[in-house]
Amino acid sequence: MFEPILLRRAMLPRSETIDVYLANGGYQALEKALGHQPAELIEMVRASGLRGRGGAGFPAGLKWGFMPREDVTKYLLVNTDEGEPGTFKDRELVERDPHQIIEGAIIAAYAVGAHRAFVYIRGEFFLGVKRWIKAIADAYERGFLGTNILGSGFDLDMTVHRGAGAYICGEETALIESLEGKRGQPRLKPPYPAQCGYLNQPSLVHNVETLANVPHIILNGPEWYASIGTERSTGPKIFCVSGHVFRRGVYELPLGTPLKEIIYEYAGGVPGHKKIKAVIPGGASTPLLTADQLDVTMDFESLVEAGSALGTGAIVVLDEDTNMVDVARRTASFFAHESCGHCTPCRVGSQRILQTITKIQNGEGRLEDIDKLYALCDGIAGHTFCPFGDALVAPIRSSLDKFGHEYEQMIKMGHPVAA
Ligand code: SF4
Repeated sequence: MFEPILLRRAMLPRSETIDVYLANGGYQALEKALGHQPAELIEMVRASGLRGRGGAGFPAGLKWGFMPREDVTKYLLVNTDEGEPGTFKDRELVERDPHQIIEGAIIAAYAVGAHRAFVYIRGEFFLGVKRWIKAIADAYERGFLGTNILGSGFDLDMTVHRGAGAYICGEETALIESLEGKRGQPRLKPPYPAQCGYLNQPSLVHNVETLANVPHIILNGPEWYASIGTERSTGPKIFCVSGHVFRRGVYELPLGTPLKEIIYEYAGGVPGHKKIKAVIPGGASTPLLTADQLDVTMDFESLVEAGSALGTGAIVVLDEDTNMVDVARRTASFFAHESCGHCTPCRVGSQRILQTITKIQNGEGRLEDIDKLYALCDGIAGHTFCPFGDALVAPIRSSLDKFGHEYEQMIKMGHPVAA
């Protein structure tokens, strides 16, 4: 049984408080980090192999290394805009153990020379907002934030900023636009935030779960961290399991754990002992896996080899009775609603996909609608301003590829089919 690292304190009574955090090893990593040179910390994170947990999986040490060494104003932005359907891991971390993230954020800010940090949180996370604000206030009171942190001479201020619930604001440049008070729309990249981010200054943007890993790397060493998981996908990962399983919830396991083990051993299998028809392995934007792919291991490389992606690690299990056309319609509906509207292929294409699938589900489809859906996918993928276009197409295309026969059946029946 894997001993949790990130969720170790999560089930303790009042785990969100600074007293429980301090009584359980909290802020020791910060003390240790402040005794190192910033460049040494960047090297430690690089050597650990930590990769971003927000979906893209970019190596964290490399990202830190991209920040300029010069003494210019820099920012650290903590991305708490968790909005990928099926994903609820960051919320757990914020609500149950916010100081772990704050400690990771202070270490990251020290390593890259940022003296101002913003926590960008999804507006609907009411409890999360409360927990962040309280945790930051307590960290100031105990000298972990503010001026001359623990007598080191390092200063850091941290502020919470509530977003308004737009999915696209989880994308780092849209987050920056929103934080600047503008409409939350992505910016063209390059330049990347490490060169030109918040207020056009170098900014390090990190997901909550990524930062939660940092204190453990500093405290236990990069070799220890790299010994968890696989050679190229190191460390623990919080998997969110939902859909047709007995025990839905978050499970912290090493990267590289077999999908089958997570579903059957940890989440208790499928109610009614039904067969699995499909699995969404990494959140709504990742391509579907079929029942014959359950032996895949949950790490960055294996999922790409299997034709999908680790994404946020949000596993949604769909049993044999699932109407896959309805799953595609719901997915399309989410993306059509969340398109920021900036570019035409995404704004119009997402609506057209939704209309076409809805038409099929309403019993009004024609066989040529399947080709039309493929054509719409082709018109969106690779032709949009930001990766949202590819994200919306991936699950739809995989649904057509793997479950096209269900679309055909529905079209031939010619009457509405209940979800
Ligand atoms: Fe906005 Fe979609 Fe274009 Fe991204 S791809 S900029 S979300 S309209």
